Amino acid sequence: MFEKIVIANRGEIALRILRACKELGIKTVAVHSQIDRDLKHVRLADESVCIGPNSSTESYLNIPRIISAMEITDSMAVHPGYGFLAENADFAEQVQNSGFTFIGPSADVIRLMGDKVSAIAAMKKAGVPTVPGSDGPLPDDKDKCLGFGQSIGYPVIIKAAAGGGGRGMRVVHTESALLNSIRVTKAEAKAAFGDDTVYMEKFLQNPRHVEVQVMSDGQGHAIHLGDRDCSLQRRHQKVLEEAPAPFIDPDSRRKVLESCVKACIEIGYRGAGTFEFLYEDGHFYFIEMNTRIQVEHPVTEMVTGVDLIKEQIRVCAGEKLSLSQDDVVIKGHSFECRINAEDPKTFMPCPGTVTQFHAPGGLGVRVDSHLYNGYKVPPNYDSMIAKIITYGECRATALARMRSALDELVIDGIRTNIPLQQDLVRDAGFMKGGVNIHYLEKKLGK
Ligand code: ADP
Repeated sequence: MFEKIVIANRGEIALRILRACKELGIKTVAVHSQIDRDLKHVRLADESVCIGPNSSTESYLNIPRIISAMEITDSMAVHPGYGFLAENADFAEQVQNSGFTFIGPSADVIRLMGDKVSAIAAMKKAGVPTVPGSDGPLPDDKDKCLGFGQSIGYPVIIKAAAGGGGRGMRVVHTESALLNSIRVTKAEAKAAFGDDTVYMEKFLQNPRHVEVQVMSDGQGHAIHLGDRDCSLQRRHQKVLEEAPAPFIDPDSRRKVLESCVKACIEIGYRGAGTFEFLYEDGHFYFIEMNTRIQVEHPVTEMVTGVDLIKEQIRVCAGEKLSLSQDDVVIKGHSFECRINAEDPKTFMPCPGTVTQFHAPGGLGVRVDSHLYNGYKVPPNYDSMIAKIITYGECRATALARMRSALDELVIDGIRTNIPLQQDLVRDAGFMKGGVNIHYLEKKLGK
């Protein structure tokens, strides 16, 4: 096992990683920007290194500075969390080449899954269900493109192979708009990602977002830890998640879970990962894989009892998976509400000083947050400041606990989206379960 690791992230996930390390007896080094010296995990870590000014590019995204911090603190590995460098293959490679361990898959696997065209090809090969599409990059040949459109059927979506974060996509409703849309998406992809490769997929009209959590040791063993529903989204950002996904066809679920495990073994996957799917009319369609731990991992931890971060660290230290598939039993239901420092109506970020913070509690309530009284939320980074997670033996109980937990939660001094979350957990459609990815934006009148 590692003796000491660098936590190359901030906020709640840095604290979450620190807690896992403490349990595993691993020493921690917090690397942080100037403005982040008062973060909770920086105070709690065994050592801390200020790696630069507030701008992410000069701190959390600065590869040489993070590797230097590993060298001067004599650390053995780095945990990237999510966001920042978590899916940066060059970072993983440089960490490896410097003689350290990247807590995640190999750089090659990150690259394979980071390019959507190669990811889809690998998934098809492993038997993971994908969206009907062009099965590869769109050629320059206009007739061939029109032919793809005809055989897939409109509407279609043109997507950049290198796209991410909901950017580099365009929906096309009619054949007459196809060629121009391809041209524009290619130009945008070139400007945004430096790669103009685009491909075509059937555009699903009312899908849900359902994803599968996996863990793999890169030594031929992989397991799934069930699924999550993250359909409540605004501008492709998840707002409220749950596990397991409600009302899923049992046969499709079993098949898709098994195919994800098989895919992990085939690509030599190591660590925690998520296969993201659109789910419509009882069918799963793979859209992408996230080669890291995700924000919403706690809902899976609640229903499986497995500490995903500890397991991720163990397998990346070279240990075999500590669980077999039969050890994973999904029990009960869990929800997660993301709390952001933002205006609940305009969604404008709202940084500032938290004058009062009272976390909810009680049986089945978990709070993952770096907040404390007097903490100053900086304007420089993501606005998520807390995750409220509840567990119950059934969906209704977990949801009732969430209503109560949100009513107990107090964050004063800044505006937050707590009112929006309070509204959502009382929404009749959501309470019933199984809403699609357009539900929240429709509700908000967008
Ligand atoms: P990104 O990497 O930018 O997040 P994804 O491929 O995960 O891109 O897609 C982001 C979102 O775009 C999905 O969650 C879904 O809302 C929408 N989307 C992507 N592909 C399709 C499709 N074939 N049909 C309908 N919606 C899609």
